[in-house]
Amino acid sequence: MIRIIQRQIHSRGNLQLGIGDDALILKDGNTVLTTDTYAEGVHFDLSYMSYYDVGTRCACAALSDVVAMGGEPKVLVVGLAVPRETDLRAIRQLYRGLERICKEMGCEIGGGDIIALDRLVITLTALGRAAVPLLRSGAQPGDFLYLTGYAGLAETGRLILAGRVRLPAGTAGIRLAVQRHLCPVPRAQVMRALGLRISALIDTSDGLGSDARQLSVLSRVKIVIDPDQLPLHPVTIKLCQQLRKNPLEFALSAGEDYELLFTSRRNLPQMIKNVKITRIGHVREGKGLFIKEGEEVVPLKITGYDHLAE
Ligand SMILES: [Mg+2]
Repeated sequence: MIRIIQRQIHSRGNLQLGIGDDALILKDGNTVLTTDTYAEGVHFDLSYMSYYDVGTRCACAALSDVVAMGGEPKVLVVGLAVPRETDLRAIRQLYRGLERICKEMGCEIGGGDIIALDRLVITLTALGRAAVPLLRSGAQPGDFLYLTGYAGLAETGRLILAGRVRLPAGTAGIRLAVQRHLCPVPRAQVMRALGLRISALIDTSDGLGSDARQLSVLSRVKIVIDPDQLPLHPVTIKLCQQLRKNPLEFALSAGEDYELLFTSRRNLPQMIKNVKITRIGHVREGKGLFIKEGEEVVPLKITGYDHLAE
């Protein structure tokens, strides 16, 4: 579908970068702009989330794409489709959630639109400024691949909230996992601290495997993931045991962590600005996404979430 859309649209010289990265870049080279749509039943579930949670979660996801361009979020525009019977208190809660994240990121809501629909749908358009944009296409052979936070933690939190698994009360990490699902605050402090030491950058939204593949395709390099290095939280391993899922497959395909996945030539510390940083692989000449299997390196087949897949 994206390819068909690309064939229908034509460049008129206003953009430095169009479709294909986390956000577009205007001709000025510094203004980044991105839009995302979130629907009840697809991206959030009001049976176990409050309107406040919906606000924080959607704002985090939208502003994450600006951060994934190396940008500082400045303005958020909010398009709302709401059922007619929606309580105005719910809208107040939703905006409290959006505002909480905007405040934390130094961003402000600049307007929007409201229509009536049979279910809640939110479209967020985020504008930001990047002194030097960080693209998906900058990885070089010899770089290392890094990930912030934990892989699959947000999906762990979602499955706990949805009641798909029963972990003993007091299991370490439950709160952290639920927080990562409800409020995955973008890792802007890491992006700022590293700046140009990052050669290529993407945020993990569709699944670590799928997002790493994006870096390899757009940078025209081979990326090798070391599965022994993937940062899996013990609570994710417990969840996988209960659900009889392979933790590695889970970590590579679980979406919406909104962590930063990036390449750098440097040897980086394991903690930057209080955020865990893990070296999970490396970049080589060639193409495609691979995974270490003992001494071998084999193509990685796992793909991420596709909204239109059957
Ligand atoms: Mg993204």
